[in-house]
Amino acid sequence: MSAEKTLVILKPDCLNQGAAGTVIERFERAGFEIAACKMMRLSTTLLREHYAHLAKLPFFPEIERFMGSRPVIVLILRGERAVDRVRELLGPTDSTKAPKGTIRGDLGTDKMSNICHASDSAAAAATEIQRFFRADEIFG
Ligand code: ADP
Repeated sequence: MSAEKTLVILKPDCLNQGAAGTVIERFERAGFEIAACKMMRLSTTLLREHYAHLAKLPFFPEIERFMGSRPVIVLILRGERAVDRVRELLGPTDSTKAPKGTIRGDLGTDKMSNICHASDSAAAAATEIQRFFRADEIFG
């Protein structure tokens, strides 16, 4: 099977605790390559598009506040079965339920502060990669 790309966001709680290096190291040790990387503050417009599937939920304003609270790091990772394997490395959304050994289980706090976003399907990865990166910002 050929290499696949997925989109990852290192969320504000990851950067606030100085865990960007640790998280990127886990991805690299698992065999993923960085194909693109940038730091950016996520605008309300971008967040409403990115989290459109949650927009009607009562805690959506909190997600917007949290995700916009500071600049984040957005990455494209490349590797075999990247979409599924990166989600496996993260663990489930709720950090309190994520097993030890997963990124969220080891470093996350709760459902909202869960360290990383990662695309949940190949179709989502394609859409999200285009949402955050121009073609000339993606390497290899
Ligand atoms: P995932 O990020 O694991 O794909 P979702 O797409 O369901 O999960 O949710 C997007 C993000 O919204 C989560 O990563 C988390 O930061 C936040 N979130 C989801 N569900 C809740 C919840 N019940 N309470 C607070 N925040 C939540």
